[in-house]
Amino acid sequence: MPSRREFLTSAAAASAASIVARPVGAATPHAVEVGAGAGAARPVVIASSNGLRGVKLAYDRIVAGADTLDAIIAGVNITELDPEDQSVGLGGLPNADGVVQLDASCMHGPTRRAGAVGCLEDIATPSLVAKAVMDYTDHIMLVGEGARRFAIEMGFRPQNLLTERSRQDWLRWRARLNPTDARLDYDGDVAIRSTTGTINMNAVSAGGDISSVTTTSGMAWKVPGRVGDSPIVGAGQYCDNLVGAAGSTGRGEANIKACGAFLAVEFLRQGLAPAQAALKTLERIVAMTEARLIDPQGRPRFDIQFYVVAKDGRYGGATLHPGAEFAVCDDRGARLEKCVALYPAR
Ligand code: ASP
Repeated sequence: MPSRREFLTSAAAASAASIVARPVGAATPHAVEVGAGAGAARPVVIASSNGLRGVKLAYDRIVAGADTLDAIIAGVNITELDPEDQSVGLGGLPNADGVVQLDASCMHGPTRRAGAVGCLEDIATPSLVAKAVMDYTDHIMLVGEGARRFAIEMGFRPQNLLTERSRQDWLRWRARLNPTDARLDYDGDVAIRSTTGTINMNAVSAGGDISSVTTTSGMAWKVPGRVGDSPIVGAGQYCDNLVGAAGSTGRGEANIKACGAFLAVEFLRQGLAPAQAALKTLERIVAMTEARLIDPQGRPRFDIQFYVVAKDGRYGGATLHPGAEFAVCDDRGARLEKCVALYPAR
């Protein structure tokens, strides 16, 4: 038996060139278990609304025969590598120290495998590192410096992920922590962009194989070391090749307590339609919400969404408060659809 170190080193040597040189997200082989995904489905890819470009790319690849996980990771790579998207990967909003720390997880239905990274620094595509954890280790999750070292050993290139735009937002946030500090001379009216955001993507192929992935820079200005729901298998995303997949965006702290993605898939298993499964999961989240986060009307002050696909290709999205949309691509093309909302407009 090779030692773990030898295994990792030889795996890294074998794959480093390919990871760096291949187009990001290109296919790697999986040991697919015969019959695990048996059953025809309507192929479909769904994602949070920031995945509109990604669902199209992933769908086209799946229809052309690509593995569902490789295809959706290629889909979320578009957002991870987009410096203008401040919720994911390169350009993501940093933590309280001004450091971008990324979380991601994925599940591959046909092989019943999962991988995850938390608090990963300097690597723009945590979804691919999560998949490398799945493919090349006997573990599910690596965090912090260990995750970074692993990624670099596997051939991922470290880079500064803090764009000038996100650095300026962080400076404005810091300048206003204490109004009497006057640390920087910023006008109090300068708007700071949304402090949350994530991309979740789930897919079903014509053969009924299913995969899911979620990747994020997490809550902006978070306590360094904070890990959200996105890298938690069963919270940020979950996939069961016999049933379906689900994933989430929004307040991760609320989701972790409810094991939301797992719960949504369990509701699917019990026979609920995808949107109903997502709504029932939101109800559980509300039931688990602490009093300080409930407004005078009895509703959570935060928002959260679930995106659910069933093995036969049915799909749905749900949100606590109206307004959220989700991206879909199937044989009718890529588009945004409205999430059903648990509550009416405020
Ligand atoms: N769920 C993410 C987190 O809590 C943030 C988000 O989706 O807005 O890290």
